[in-house]
Order: sequence, then C-alpha cells, then structure tokens
Amino acid sequence: MKILSVNAGSSSLKFQLLQMPEEFEIASGLVERIGNKNAEFKIKFNGSSKTQSDLMVLDHSVAVDLVIKGLLENKVIASLDEIQGVGHRVVQGGELFKESVVIDDDVVIKIASLNDLAPLHNPANIIGINAFRKAIPNVIHVAVFDTTFHQTMPEESFLYGTPYEWYTKHGVIKYGFHGTSHQYVSELAHARLGKAHSKIIVAHIGNGASITAIRDGKSIDTSMGLTPLEGFPMGTRSGNVDPAIFQLMQQKEGYSLEKTLNELNKNSGYLGISGVSHDSRDIIAAAEGGNKRAQLALDIQAKRIVDYIASYYVLLGGLDALVFTAGIGENAREVRKLICDRLGVLGIKLDDNKNNSRGDKEISSDDSNVKIWVIPTNEEVMIARDVLRLQNK
Ligand code: AMP
Repeated sequence: MKILSVNAGSSSLKFQLLQMPEEFEIASGLVERIGNKNAEFKIKFNGSSKTQSDLMVLDHSVAVDLVIKGLLENKVIASLDEIQGVGHRVVQGGELFKESVVIDDDVVIKIASLNDLAPLHNPANIIGINAFRKAIPNVIHVAVFDTTFHQTMPEESFLYGTPYEWYTKHGVIKYGFHGTSHQYVSELAHARLGKAHSKIIVAHIGNGASITAIRDGKSIDTSMGLTPLEGFPMGTRSGNVDPAIFQLMQQKEGYSLEKTLNELNKNSGYLGISGVSHDSRDIIAAAEGGNKRAQLALDIQAKRIVDYIASYYVLLGGLDALVFTAGIGENAREVRKLICDRLGVLGIKLDDNKNNSRGDKEISSDDSNVKIWVIPTNEEVMIARDVLRLQNK
C-alpha cells in the first residue's frame, strides 16, 4: 500500500511516498519558496532526481498540484487511486491531541484553535491538510503531531515557574517538539538495549534541535518549550535567554516585541553568534580555518547541550544510551566530539575512530558506561506507520 507523508511549512512542502508496511521510500521531494515567483520543485525516485526552478507558486494549493503532477508525469504512480492514505505532520497539538488522529472538519477546527501557540507552523500545516484533502478526498488523512510524544511529561517538567493561571487560561506550558523523531529513534535504541527498562537521551540536532529524556519509552522532559525557541542555540534560534532581553532591546534599539522575537528565532544561534552562516558545514569549516566566532558558536552550543544531558542524566537516575540524530547529529562528527568530550565525568566516552565513520553506528568506546549511538531519524516513516495503524483500526 502507498502512503504519502506530508510536511507543510510556511514556505515549503516536503513529501515522501512510502510503500507500507515495508517502509520502502518510493519517491520524495519538496517545493521550496512557496509564495514566490522563483519557487523550486525537486522530486527523487528510482535513484534519479529532477528539479524545476523559477516556478510561480503563489500558495500551497499550487505546490500540492506540483507534487501530484510530479508523481503522475514521472509515472511514480499511474493514478491518484494508488495513494491509500496521507499523513500530515502538525507541529502543535497542544493538550487537545494526546495521539495521532484521523482528520475530519472538526479536527481541522481544533488544530486551528491552537494557532496562537504555533503561529509560524500550524497555519501552514492546515493549508497543506486542506489542499491535500481536496486533491485526494477519498482516502484517510491523519494528523501526526510533534507534541504528542511529550504528553507523558510530568507536571514538574511541563509547567513553568509562571503564574498557574497562565497555564489554565492560556496553555502556557512546555509542549516540546520533534516528537516523531524522538519516538522513532528511542524505539530503535530501546530495542537495541534489549531490556525491559531503559534510560535514553536523544539529541536531535538539526537546523532546529532538541534533547529529550526518555524513560521506558516515555518522554519525561525535553528541551523545547511552548515554542521551538526554547532550549539550546540552534541554526538560527537562540534557545534559552533571559526574557528581560525584550525590555532592554526595546530601550536600546527601539525593537518591538515582534522584532526581538524574530531576531531570537531567525538571527541568533550559529548564524547570530558566528556572523558566518546557519549551516553547520559552514560553521565547522570556518572554525577549522581559524574563525574565532565560528568556534565560539560551536562551543556555546556544545556547552548548553551538555547542560541538558547532565541534568537529564540526573533526572533519569543514570543513562543506558545517548543517541545522536538529525542533520548535524548524524553527520557532524566534530559536533558530536565537542559534546562527548565534556561528558567524561559521567563515564560517557567516545571512540574517536568509530566517531569518524559514517552511518548508523555505535560510537562509544569499549569502556564507556553508556552506549553512544548515531541513529538516523525518519519522521516520514513514523507518520506513515500511524496512517497504517489508524486505517486498520
Ligand atoms: P536538519 O534540520 O535535520 O535537516 O539538519 C540540517 C543541518 O544538518 C544543517 O546545519 C546541515 O549543515 C547539517 N548537515 C547535513 N549534512 C551534514 C554533513 N555532512 N556534515 C555536517 N553537517 C551536516
């Protein structure tokens, strides 16, 4: 059975067509720069890839048409009837959604009711859902939320030290994100440990990044919060700051709330600290070339990541496995080394040779008290699994 996984962002739409339950990728691709006249469409299938540039894609429905045309014209599918389910990544499920759900009009209204909590993400997710429901109306559509995996966090983890009414009236709590990734990777790690009870920390480090403490398969704390801005410095996000920064930047630079928030989301992290790039490859190359601010960007991030790992080590009461995943976690051995070299005091020891090799692997030394693994994430497979599960219900 063919299932489509969709991830609609504010200006992009990623998709993957999977053969299920085999979990085999038939095709994947993305539309970038939606809302512009120079949008780009890429599709990969059968080991080849095609790109169309300078396209007029003014909204997501045009992007959805491009995806469907791309699948049909390249004969990836003979007709839309072959697609038997569509899974949609939705960033914020709030406390309304404790698990993935089959989408109907009521679910769309509920997702929209959470727009205030995720103004950058949920509206785009809804546009993607509506466009695909219109284009492929007679199949099951499922919403898979970034937040549901973290719904197992206890109150002491998800509540902030803010007035309690902010929670009861406005939902001001930590929700956490990247849930599908943390779940996918931690399930694999749990199986590899081969024991009933496990203590796992997953470091999902990509352009967006978060760390989760997972006990017996359940998230008990995570670094992202009300929004994906909380945590440690990322590609362009600052991670934690003192909220008093808002007042200071207003006094010193005349920044509005929105301007400072935008700076913290889009112009901080690797990019803001280094002044070089948001991309770890550029930062690593610049640091190796002697650029001090690029090195500082890496060091500040490693320090903050280790702060989380150490605190989760205590929260979990020890640790069986530390798992790296996502673009940087899977590929940037330099970042993994910067982090692990600070963890020796906990008996977490990296094997430099193993760390230098590629792919899904164990990278801890034989005398490490904790397994260190690189496990590639696959959010699309996780989404397709939920479509299959809810279809069979
Ligand atoms: P993601 O958000 O998971 O797609 O991750 C994006 C980040 O992964 C970017 O900062 C990329 O530079 C980084 N990345 C991808 N491939 C590599 C690589 N081979 N070496 C270092 N960083 C990489």
